[in-house]
Amino acid sequence: MKPATFQLLHKMINIEPGLISERADCWVPFPCVPDNLRAKYSINGLFLRPFGVFKRDIEIDFKQKARPYPVTEILQCCTRDKNGKTPKQNFFWDLTAGKRIECLLTIVMSGYSSKLSIHLCCLNDNCRQPMEVEISQEEIADFQLQNDKADSFMIQIGDKGHLIRKPTGRDQIEWLNTSFANEDAAMKGMLRTLLHGDDKTSSDIRYPMSDERVKTLNKSMDELDPLVNFDLRAYCPYCDKENRYEINLEELSLYKLQEAQKGLLQTIHRLALHYHWREEDVFSIPPWRRYHYLDLIEKEETL
Ligand SMILES: [Zn+2]
Repeated sequence: MKPATFQLLHKMINIEPGLISERADCWVPFPCVPDNLRAKYSINGLFLRPFGVFKRDIEIDFKQKARPYPVTEILQCCTRDKNGKTPKQNFFWDLTAGKRIECLLTIVMSGYSSKLSIHLCCLNDNCRQPMEVEISQEEIADFQLQNDKADSFMIQIGDKGHLIRKPTGRDQIEWLNTSFANEDAAMKGMLRTLLHGDDKTSSDIRYPMSDERVKTLNKSMDELDPLVNFDLRAYCPYCDKENRYEINLEELSLYKLQEAQKGLLQTIHRLALHYHWREEDVFSIPPWRRYHYLDLIEKEETL
């Protein structure tokens, strides 16, 4: 028999000895970080790992009221630099909402599947058939790359153009912790946060805006960060009609990551039940051995 030639697909990253339990062959490059954040946090090469494998992954509470909190915790949990160090938590709060979603999607797709499956239900009332769309990591990265090219956008308020920046995780928390009287107040409050310098006190955002203007501004803000307000057009294979679907990629990613956490808890449960191991015992062996033991248990059970 001739030996087969093979190629290693993933780069091995050496993690410092203290983090040996997180040694893995599936670290993937962290999405592109803007230069200002690189400099602020001395970032030099970051990597992400899959979620639902290590002990820290069972400590994330997905039931927190505000989604930005578990998002930040997951990003922090799955990010390391070349020396095995994790950036400060503020780094993750300073990432734009779109970049945070791109990171979550990268983590989801670094796991078992390199594609993101989105389940849709046809919007045509006479059809309503379920269908599935698959988006690849490359498609998401290309999409976000276009968006990465601009940090700020010009929007029209009244007769004047104003420069606004993209919202960050920190902005999301600030908005969630503020109670706005109505949509007009919310829109202005959000704009005020994102406006540059002197524009924050502009008279254009002090007075009530028409519904039409609020709608236009909403649309402009949607276009600022397309992964935050993601939508796609899909043809239904049953009725051949095209519809536009709004997808909350943050919610979808968190759902998939929570499923991964449930899978890990199930693994601990099975190994604990079978071998009377404690959580620490389960995590003291590498994931591949855990899967091997699970296979053996399953084979025994099917005998
Ligand atoms: Zn249809």
